[in-house]
Amino acid sequence: MSTFDLSGRTILVTGASSGLGRRFARIAAAAGARVVAAARRTDRLAELVGELGAERACAVAMDVESEASVIAGYDAAEKAFGPVDTVIANAGMNAQALAADIAIEDFDRVMNVNVRGAFLTAREGARRMMAAGSKDTGKGRIVLIASIGAHKVLPGLTAYCASKAAVAMMGKALAREWINRGINVNVVCPGYIETEINADWFAEEGGRKQMATFPRKRLMGESDLDGIVGFLCSDAARGVTGSVITMDDGQSL
Ligand code: NAP
Repeated sequence: MSTFDLSGRTILVTGASSGLGRRFARIAAAAGARVVAAARRTDRLAELVGELGAERACAVAMDVESEASVIAGYDAAEKAFGPVDTVIANAGMNAQALAADIAIEDFDRVMNVNVRGAFLTAREGARRMMAAGSKDTGKGRIVLIASIGAHKVLPGLTAYCASKAAVAMMGKALAREWINRGINVNVVCPGYIETEINADWFAEEGGRKQMATFPRKRLMGESDLDGIVGFLCSDAARGVTGSVITMDDGQSL
């Protein structure tokens, strides 16, 4: 099997306008799913839909900080493709600042996007999966994208690490809560992968020095998460729920 079969699934991906989210949208479409690409930058989503084709993908505007926007995004998704059975809660941000200096507004924003946003995305998805009969089909899948910062200190990223630890625990708690509702919830903790979130940092001297501390002295590539995310979204992951899986090329060793 070179890819997991996701045909018949409707997968909503948040943060699909760039980086990992765009990659997840592409691999889900390639594996046969219909993809709902969600983010705030709808011009970028439109480009992605153009690439994947309107029968395979649609774009919905969604700001995960806003409950009304999350609900409206799911409404638009259902209108286009029917009920969503799989969610990849990937939208996230960081604020690079020492704890003594970080503006409290930046701390709040990291928490709001990463924790509250993942919660709103997962909860609204689960509510709709339950309404569509996930208890009988057992097909509901939610994947939360956390980070190795959930269990390892990343220098200068206290707010980010705290937010991702919260996401990891939230995934386990939601998995337990929905275990008999036909919804599997799992968490992926990636290591550093070069995307817009960190490209500036790794272009600087400090970033290059940090990379030299990784056992393999390299960043991961966007495709390194294809297998785990495809698996967790698929029927093959029927017995996997409440798992927190590190995919970091050994960076946290
Ligand atoms: P990225 O290229 O900066 O993408 C972040 C995405 O999140 C963008 O598509 C952005 O879309 C979306 N987003 C941010 N705030 C949002 C909001 N309020 N509402 C909706 N969407 C929002 O970064 P990335 O590296 O792909 O990161 C994706 C996820 O992976 C994040 O959760 C990040 O913490 C996690 N992660 C990344 C790495 C890494 O090394 N790259 C490692 C571990 C974990 P819009 O701006 O268009 O809304």
